[in-house]
Amino acid sequence: CGIVGYVGSSSVTSRPLEVVVAGLRRLEYRGYDSAGVALVAPGTDHVIAAKKAGKLVNLIEELEARPLPDATAAIGHTRWATHGAPTDVNAHPHLADGGKLAIIHNGIVENYALLKLELVAEGVEFLSETDTEVAAHLVARAYDACGDLTEAMRQVVLRLEGAFTLLAVHADQPDLVVGARHDSPLVVGLGEGENFLGSDVAAFIAYTREALELGQDEIVTLTSSSVTVTDFAGNVVEPKRFTVDWDA
Ligand code: GLU
Repeated sequence: CGIVGYVGSSSVTSRPLEVVVAGLRRLEYRGYDSAGVALVAPGTDHVIAAKKAGKLVNLIEELEARPLPDATAAIGHTRWATHGAPTDVNAHPHLADGGKLAIIHNGIVENYALLKLELVAEGVEFLSETDTEVAAHLVARAYDACGDLTEAMRQVVLRLEGAFTLLAVHADQPDLVVGARHDSPLVVGLGEGENFLGSDVAAFIAYTREALELGQDEIVTLTSSSVTVTDFAGNVVEPKRFTVDWDA
């Protein structure tokens, strides 16, 4: 139900996790049943994730009990379950490719059952009961084939029916978060040497008021120093820039 993304610090720090957890706290008002985070750092061959059913405090207790390492980028999610009970396993992020890729999703993948059959027939193992997990495996497979996370996301969103905001990170790309939206919101927050994503501006208002609005059916490629927005056909688009002028 809430989405946060962060990519920053040229060095590895605790900031990505701090920003994402603070963002999730700001999005709590939307209601949710589970929460989770994923981190990427240079030189690690897998994404680091933690997720918990229940209130954000459960996730925070988990992070205190088993602290996560420092990172360069992070994504965070609060879930409002539509497919699969609110359990730790069904909480987002969902991992694929042996933990190299992590995905978070707000919305519903209406055609997930068909996509799941196809993936299972190809030998993919599913861990959760969610509709979201198909997107994780599809993006991971597309990335393996093309080596470009934005292109992988583009290929996959064209196959998804329903409503979605999706964010993906990959262990091979520690300075990158890719997001996509269709019938579900996603905004970009512009920082200095760091950039933010949120399902609404509340996710990053504590850090920046300079923002970009993504249009329908657009993909954002976010690094610590660049923001590129493309449509689902791959054309570069100029997003609408605005300044958040309300007090959060
Ligand atoms: N449909 C997904 C799930 O049930 C995402 C729900 C959401 O928007 O939080 O896991």
